[in-house]
Amino acid sequence: MNCSGKDLYSEATVHMAFHDAIDTVTFSDEASEVYLAPGWIDIQVNGFAAVDYNNPATPQEEIGRSVGVLLSTGVTRFYPTVITGPPDAMAGALRNLASARESLPVGAAMDGFHVEGPHISAEDGPRGAHPRHWVRKPDLDEYARWQEATGGRIRIVTLAPEWPEAVRYIERITRDGVVAAIGHTQATAAQIADAVSAGATLSTHLGNGAHSVMRRHPNYIWDQLAEDRLMADFIVDGIHLDAAFLKVALRAKTLERAVLVTDAAPPAAAAPGRYYIGEQAVDLSEDQRVTLAGQDRLAGSALRMDRGIENLVRLAGLSLGDAVRLATVNAAKAGKVPGRSGGLTPGDRADLVQFRWDGGRIEVTGVWISGRRVYSI
Ligand SMILES: [Zn+2]
Repeated sequence: MNCSGKDLYSEATVHMAFHDAIDTVTFSDEASEVYLAPGWIDIQVNGFAAVDYNNPATPQEEIGRSVGVLLSTGVTRFYPTVITGPPDAMAGALRNLASARESLPVGAAMDGFHVEGPHISAEDGPRGAHPRHWVRKPDLDEYARWQEATGGRIRIVTLAPEWPEAVRYIERITRDGVVAAIGHTQATAAQIADAVSAGATLSTHLGNGAHSVMRRHPNYIWDQLAEDRLMADFIVDGIHLDAAFLKVALRAKTLERAVLVTDAAPPAAAAPGRYYIGEQAVDLSEDQRVTLAGQDRLAGSALRMDRGIENLVRLAGLSLGDAVRLATVNAAKAGKVPGRSGGLTPGDRADLVQFRWDGGRIEVTGVWISGRRVYSI
């Protein structure tokens, strides 16, 4: 439908439905195609614009600055993500982020928090860049401390289901409405099936956090691809996954159950060089690879959501509308973002992104949170 932007922007809630992603509003008076879409949702962000969300001492104003840069990429809601580390540091980082959420004018963009680890595989490959020393078994007391630190805003916990304690843990956190996600795992088919029966609904960055060489079949990637009760998110930076795997994985999951995430690390939207995720040093190279310092092991990405959507079109052959769906409706569903799994409907918080689409490139031109313009060019 065509409509006047003015009607939409004047209130804090939307007055019309955005059931699908972007084919709803176009402004025909512009030289290039301009679209309006629900604000993008990123359920896995470890840091951004040189700011580390895993350090309990990161200043609030620095977190605020990084959120400002995230907004400029079209993201209106995201889950800051804390990875495997010492118990006190993980709880401290979550407490610091929750405090920033309360105090910052842009804090509302931090809708909840994702804890990735520490209950993951200790083995090289599945463990990815998480420090082996701090891998530990599922612990509901520690989960309670995370919830206490964030005022009950933990929304996703990523864990490996091969821990004997995993089923009970998954049953407990999903009763709270928390998403149990499978990741950094080398689980058997039976262990994955048990985790799903216990309530797991998501695969975290499927195809990554895995052995570089594995049995062709069966293996834990096929098992998760074939499990229709699992949604799956993918890091679409053109580095973590090749185009053939991405295409096949999206077809297996279908456009209903596939999700775009960035898994952004502090070097995202920053210059090449040395950065830190908690105590771990990482390097951003000129070709946008983020690796553990002195190694070739990937440690998150330098991806931004707008580039991820472009990459879905370029690498996987999706239409722009379908690509945006993976960053809006599907991301909301996977992360249980309140009120967003139907796109935007009348009465919802007016979180919107306006962008130009030209030659396969997205240029974000305006972003609104609750109807308030927070970014424009
Ligand atoms: Zn990971």
